[in-house]
Order: sequence, then structure tokens, then C-alpha cells
Amino acid sequence: MPAWTTPDPVALHAQAVPERLACVDLASGRRWTYAAFDDAIQRAVAVLESHGIGQGQRIAALARNSADLVILQQAAMRLGAIFVPVNWRLAVPERQAILADCDPSLLVHDADVDIAAPSGCAPVAVARFAAAVEAAAPAPRRPLPEADRPSIILYTSGTSGRPKGVIVTEANAFATAVNFSVVGRVGHDSIFLCDAPMFHVIGLITNLRPVLLKGGTVLISSGFDAGLTNRRLADPDLGVTHYFCVPQMAKMLREHASFAPARWTSLKALFTGGAPNPAADVLWWLQQGVLMADGYGMTEAGTVLCVPPQADRIAVKAGSAGLPAPSVSLRIVDDAGNDVAPGDTGEIWLAGPNVTPGYWNRPDETASAFSADGWFRTGDMARRDEDGFVTLVDRRKDMFISGGENVFPAEVETALLAHPDITEAAVIGIADARWGEVGRAFVVLRPGRALDFEALASHCAAHIARYKVPKEFRALAALPRTASGKVQKHVLRGLA
Ligand code: ATP
Ligand code: MG
Repeated sequence: MPAWTTPDPVALHAQAVPERLACVDLASGRRWTYAAFDDAIQRAVAVLESHGIGQGQRIAALARNSADLVILQQAAMRLGAIFVPVNWRLAVPERQAILADCDPSLLVHDADVDIAAPSGCAPVAVARFAAAVEAAAPAPRRPLPEADRPSIILYTSGTSGRPKGVIVTEANAFATAVNFSVVGRVGHDSIFLCDAPMFHVIGLITNLRPVLLKGGTVLISSGFDAGLTNRRLADPDLGVTHYFCVPQMAKMLREHASFAPARWTSLKALFTGGAPNPAADVLWWLQQGVLMADGYGMTEAGTVLCVPPQADRIAVKAGSAGLPAPSVSLRIVDDAGNDVAPGDTGEIWLAGPNVTPGYWNRPDETASAFSADGWFRTGDMARRDEDGFVTLVDRRKDMFISGGENVFPAEVETALLAHPDITEAAVIGIADARWGEVGRAFVVLRPGRALDFEALASHCAAHIARYKVPKEFRALAALPRTASGKVQKHVLRGLA
């Protein structure tokens, strides 16, 4: 097959519907039509070229969300450079490890972020980059680079350990854009609110690519703020139709004093993904009149692997991540790589244009992530019902074996969260002389409540089999979480 290119939707819409609104930067109030956005991106190409950036070179970013960051990413894409957004909230040594790994030629950063740039890399503040774009003449247009080259390196959330740099090609990002356009019912009149961080796959790809592909409008917020986001979802002047976040953000929205979902009149659906979202919570949102679609995704294969249909069946199937998206080939297999029967639990294996070619600088991990015949092994355990709906069970690595029986901590955590005194729960397996392994539960209690081992154990026994009931309980003030709100079990395992 000859080298092919993905379309450049901003350039296409700039020709077809130049006056349509492409992007609004909510912090500064700046707005771009497709024609103006396209022009800004082409001027950004000129700025990057003036920094000597060319094909394959990395441009790292340590910055909050802004339209300038989108312009930078789109310019990098047109040049064939590789955009690497890095979690600016990481501790300096963690960020340094990522910068050393991706070895950028340019680092664009917020002025107040401590960059400690590696040698050989030019740091440029976002404001300075934006001013340079403003002043530059557009670069001459060149053919787009081929679709299968690395376009972005996105580091995983670091839930299970050190974040891994996932290579995202333009073909990968395009597949996710098409998938979400279909399953998210995105149109030219869609308005996305993007406040999930752009160093995460939801912020950088799901919240930008589908809406730009369809010629809609993206509202960029510098970051999530429960009060501000609540107000924006209720603002008829903004008219937000699509909002995609992680379950932890949805939880913060509903706990905020300004939560008034009856006023979210333009919103078609609230999409979540990236972490478990219990069926009881999804049903609660549906009762509030908000169509919550909790799907399944990952950095390595995009956020739109499975999405519940936004229709009546969403309530019946609450707790399921829904059906595989159009480009996603999804298998659930046993340890020998054979498909399991409906209802049985196995590992999710994936293939399709949305799947990464591998990890940056990690040939061994790349090799072990794929089966001999090329399926991507997600490490996620799931089952599929007779209708094809996929329900996530847990991460394979988090499973433990107690007295010869498999225990998936997520199931135990759901039981714990049903207790009225518990607000957060996480379970790990620990070595045990008698049973091989047993569960140790970490819980966050409601203020004023004390840990009552007997009461918690008998509560669990009423919900789950005896061998699954944790043998140890510990109360913590808070659980260690990643930037996207996921519990870091490797940190819990490290607690003495
Ligand atoms: P790391 O790979 O560094 O450990 P991570 O896996 O959390 O971090 P992401 O790529 O952001 O990094 O998250 C993808 C993972 O999140 C999936 O592999 C899966 O384990 C989990 N996940 C995603 N969606 C859901 C969901 N709907 N329900 C349960 N878990 C989910
Ligand atoms: Mg992962």
C-alpha cells in the first residue's frame, strides 16, 4: 500500500466553511473561526521551523490547556514532528525522567511551571510562543506526512507503575476521532467543553479530534474546576453539547454546591471513561436526567474502545462499558489466547487502526504487549454478555488468588463502597501463609466514623463470597491517585 495521509480537518473546514467557529479559549476569551485557526496553525508551523524543528523531532509541553497548545499540536502534526504533552503536576524528578525519555528539541511551558529543562532543549514560555505565532507569516503549505508515523507520545497515567510513552500515530488519532464521531453522535453543530488535561488521552484526542473532524466547536478550558465546569455546563450562551471526563471529575461535579443538572439543557450526554464507574452511580446520573455513557478506553488504543449506546438500553446495561466502537476488533480470551464463552471472564485483546504501534524507547515492553499474531494484550479483564455488551472486571495485574480462587479487587471495592461509612476503597492482595494471598482493604471513612473491623467484614460477607472478604482493613485520610483520579495500587503495595 502506498503511504497515505489522514485528512487535516481544520484545513478542510477552513476551505469549506471558513467562517464557522472552530475554537474558543475560555480563559482569555479569544475565538478562532476555521479560517483563522488554520492560518494560526500555519503560522505556528513557521515558528517551529524557525526553531529548527523538523520531521520526527519531539516538542514537549508542560502547560495547562489552552488554544495555543492545540495550535502547537496541530502545527507539529503538519510538520511531522512529535508532540509530547507532559503532566505538569508530576514531581520534578518524575517529569525529568519523561523528558529524558522523549529527548525533546523544544519545550513549551507555562511560565509558572518549574521546567528544569534537559540540556540541548530550548524552553519557550507558552505566551512567548503565542506572540511569535501572532507575528509570523504563514509557512508555505506542504503535503501532510504519512499517517503511520508517530505524531504524539502520550505517557500513560502511571496507575500501575512508571508511566510508559505510548506512540500515537495520526492514523491512531484519526480512528479514535471517527469512532467517537459515530458513537458520540458528533455533528457540525456539536460544542465540546474540553477541560480534561491535554497530557491525557481524553483531553488531547477525544475532546479535540472528533469535534474538529466534524467541523464543530471546541471550548478550551485551562483546567477542571468543579464550580466553573458546573456553571459552564449550565450556561445557555456556551451551549455545550458534549462533555467527556473521568469518573472522579463527574463525582466532583455532583458533590459541588453549584450542581444543577436540570440546567444542563444543551448537553446531549456526559461521557466518562478511564476508570471504573459503578452501575449505581451511572443509574444515579440517569435519574438526574443526565445521559451518562461510561465507556472503556486506554492510552494505547484510544478512549473509544467501547461506549454504551445513548438510548434506552443504557439503563438496563448500566455498569457495562457498552459495545465495541466501529474500528475496534475486540476479543476476550483465556490464558491460552482462545476466545471465552459469553459470561466468562478473560483478558481483552484488541486490533484495529486505533491501536498503537508500541511504546517509545521500550522494545521489550512493546514486544510483550502484542500476541504472536499481533493482538494488543490490554491487561484488562472483562466479560461479554449474550448481547455483546462488555463489562470490565479489573486489571489482570491486580487480581490475586486466595485459597486457589481468583479475586478481582474491583468487586470487593464495590461491596465496600456500598457501606454507608465508606467514601473510598481500594483492595490489594498480600501474601498469606495459609491462603497464599488474602485481601488488604484501604478505606476512607466519612468524617467522625471509626474503623470497625467486625462490622466491615460482616458487611462484605453479605455482598461477596467469604474468600473475597479482606482479612485486613486500614483507614487512610485519602487514597493515592493519579492526575486522572485513579487509585495507585503500587503505592498502596509499598505501604508497610
Ligand atoms: P498505566 O498504564 O501507567 O498503569 P493507566 O493504565 O491507568 O496507567 P490509562 O491509559 O490512562 O493509563 O488508562 C487505561 C486503563 O484504565 C485501562 O487499561 C483500564 O484498566 C482502565 N479503564 C479504562 N476505562 C475503564 C472503565 N470503564 N472501567 C474500568 N476500568 C477502565
Ligand atoms: Mg495502562
